[in-house]
Amino acid sequence: MALNLYNERFPKLVKFLQNAKAKRRVAHAYLITGDQEELLRDFARSWIQVCACESPGERYDACGNCENCRKLQNHTYPELFVLWPESKLRTIGVDDSRWLEQQLGMTGTGARLKVGLITEADCMTEQAQNAFLKTLEEPQPGNMLVLTTTRQRRLLPTIRSRCQTISIRENSRDYGDLVDAGLFDILAQIEPESGALRALTAASQLVELFGQLRQQAEEAHSGDEDERWEHVAEGDKNLQKKIEDQRNAQIEAEYRRLRERFLDAIQTWYLQQALLSRGVNREAIPHQEMLPYIFPCSPEAADRNVRLVDDLIYYLSGNTDERLAIEAFCLSVCEKSA
Ligand SMILES: [Zn+2]
Repeated sequence: MALNLYNERFPKLVKFLQNAKAKRRVAHAYLITGDQEELLRDFARSWIQVCACESPGERYDACGNCENCRKLQNHTYPELFVLWPESKLRTIGVDDSRWLEQQLGMTGTGARLKVGLITEADCMTEQAQNAFLKTLEEPQPGNMLVLTTTRQRRLLPTIRSRCQTISIRENSRDYGDLVDAGLFDILAQIEPESGALRALTAASQLVELFGQLRQQAEEAHSGDEDERWEHVAEGDKNLQKKIEDQRNAQIEAEYRRLRERFLDAIQTWYLQQALLSRGVNREAIPHQEMLPYIFPCSPEAADRNVRLVDDLIYYLSGNTDERLAIEAFCLSVCEKSA
């Protein structure tokens, strides 16, 4: 299937990938994330076909006619090795990882692209992920790895930080509006060894930014109090309290929805930093809107930052005090790296 079929829904992404193909900047490993597994799978297969196509033409898309295209479409391409959770337990085990490593390690025909595709990659057990990490860390020429997942946080940070993440959620792929909100300016200020003062300044800026989101959420529900209800509730303390509680719950849910996107952006920012820190060319970074703010650090520090963001998101999903969680995050990022 040609990539152009996705052009209407994801124009920037399609252009980015076709450009990567044109400039021979195809990455060794891709992690395709989003909320619909089937879409992720189809998209992954399209991208693989573009990469394997023998006559991609001027648009750098899959031609659909060459031998590789036809074989991929008929599911007979001999150099595509696929893992998915096929057992009853719905897991991908360590033996599966080893099988994939073996297949990819064998010398192929040489001419054809060899591809390892893992769908629902979050179903890999921790052992399987650790075994797979080896395959990921030792790229063989002529090999490509593609993972899909709807739950990327279940993958080890060390796996995510070594893949180019491609997000194909309908709305949150481009974070241009968060540039205007100042989010990336704040992230750019905190780096290893930059000290506690800078960490706490950034933390309070983040808290302020989240405060604005809360205000937005409150405004979205300010007209909710139905006058008739207020009338009914007059003099009835219990009912008044119920109405108030319900409104607060709605505000909280709306606030968390808005905040989710900011947290996604923060996570994406650190994943891009990890790629840069491993020497990936700036042009090859999917989220160009973030680039002016991101600077590489050591690969170890980058992996650590990815893990710290995971922790932050985990704490915020519970009932941890928001300010404390954010301060702890900023302070950890600014610590001396081990
Ligand atoms: Zn083709």
